Amino acid sequence: MKRRELLDLAKQLYTEDEIFELELAIDFATHAHYGQKRKSGESYITHPLAVAGILIDWAMDIDTILAGVLHDTIEDTDATLDEIESLFGHDVAFLVDGVTKVGRARAGMKNLENYLPQTTDNLSKLLVAVSQDVRVIIIKLADRLHNLRTLKYMSEEKQKKIAKESLDVFGRMADRLGMGQVRMQIEELAFSYLDPHEFNHLRNIMKKRLGKSTRKLGAVRIEVEKRLKNENISFEINGRVKSIYSLYKKLKKVNGNIDDIYDLMALRIIVNTNEDCYRVLGILHSMYQPMIARIKDYISVPKPNGYQSLHTTVITPNKHIVEFQIRTYEMHEYAERGLAASFHYHDQKSSKDYTRKRKISQLPPQLQWITRLQEIAQQLTNNEEISREQLNIDLFNDRIFVYSPKGDIYNLPEGSLPLDFAYLIHTDIGKHAYAFKVNGSIQAFDKPLANGDMVEIITRKTTIPKKEWLDLTITSHARSKIRNQLKRNTSVGALETLVRTNEIIRRKTKTDRNESKNACN
Ligand code: MN
Repeated sequence: MKRRELLDLAKQLYTEDEIFELELAIDFATHAHYGQKRKSGESYITHPLAVAGILIDWAMDIDTILAGVLHDTIEDTDATLDEIESLFGHDVAFLVDGVTKVGRARAGMKNLENYLPQTTDNLSKLLVAVSQDVRVIIIKLADRLHNLRTLKYMSEEKQKKIAKESLDVFGRMADRLGMGQVRMQIEELAFSYLDPHEFNHLRNIMKKRLGKSTRKLGAVRIEVEKRLKNENISFEINGRVKSIYSLYKKLKKVNGNIDDIYDLMALRIIVNTNEDCYRVLGILHSMYQPMIARIKDYISVPKPNGYQSLHTTVITPNKHIVEFQIRTYEMHEYAERGLAASFHYHDQKSSKDYTRKRKISQLPPQLQWITRLQEIAQQLTNNEEISREQLNIDLFNDRIFVYSPKGDIYNLPEGSLPLDFAYLIHTDIGKHAYAFKVNGSIQAFDKPLANGDMVEIITRKTTIPKKEWLDLTITSHARSKIRNQLKRNTSVGALETLVRTNEIIRRKTKTDRNESKNACN
């Protein structure tokens, strides 16, 4: 991307003052990277400009765009953070610094497989930066996306390495942030490099299938459009095609039989209000036979990353199976852009909003993992030992939602046990957990919770943490709390023994004295 192109793109969104700042940043970065080249042979500055261009496509706020332009200057040039701070302000400098740390920590992260203890310092800095400002990850995602787009210039070995890391870390991060569109782009590119043979094979299968199903869907679509118009619902309808990588993942689940996949192509209906979503669902079910097990209400029960929509799969009179996704424009925007939508260029909402200490249940459930990030960073800074497996669980496990009896929603890593939930709510509640009722019936301490479970904790004052509890939890949060409590209990225990021993000695000396007194008498 060239200077002129980026500025033209930016002029559609930002004010004159902001454009002036952008020009300044471009000049600063161009000067700093002067003489450097990309593997493609182009001058280096094309890369940060392209990254900024991607961030403009995502309609991010101006600070993020500036940081995008400057993101490689600290790592790769003589520019200093102080210079950036004095020219562009504290926020931009913080973002550039954060992105630089992500880059440095990556050497230690490598999908955390080659994770080494000496890198915890970088890793904790990275986590602190990310947990204080999520925009750091958003810039990193744009950076990664552009690097994937220009991956063909790298050696095959590098291609595979970067592709794998993209799937393992960045695709999942994008998913965690609800950035569906970005996740898909990262996954498609990465998968095409990681397994080009399988990618092309599946793409061909998909092409053949789609030819057929487009015709079938066309007829259904016309029927549905007509009906919705008659019902006076204003709507948009379009087809969405499954991505190659998600087809690949799904095929693995259904043992490779493509006939078991009903949503290669789905019809997406977008309407104005939540009520309209349910009306459309009702209308579809009155027209066609729904498959009961495939009706999903992600509006009242959103996915753990915040995704909302109604899904249903129906069978037409001609025995065609069609999936529908129904959502409002707002839900659609979130499904595509996720958390990035919170940093829209025209509302300068501070990202700090997400980091202020509040009760976890008051954060939007899809953001609760950010407070976990802060905690892990804290543990690393305190040199508490966290194993690679533990980090994987805390940061990269899929997430589930669990409800308290009051209806508060908590976000936990998949595989969490009841005690993990108890400690997430409150340390004192965890400490005295005596029994758990899940969806109304008593559940054993060692049985993992499932998405959507309602968990009631029964406490007893007399219950105290036991050593075995360390094996009945999977989150580092619960484990570190239990470890602390065990330590305290042992020291309290030791003190009690000491007091008791002293008492016995005192009593004994008294009797001894009395005895000797008696003897004297
Ligand atoms: Mn870069």
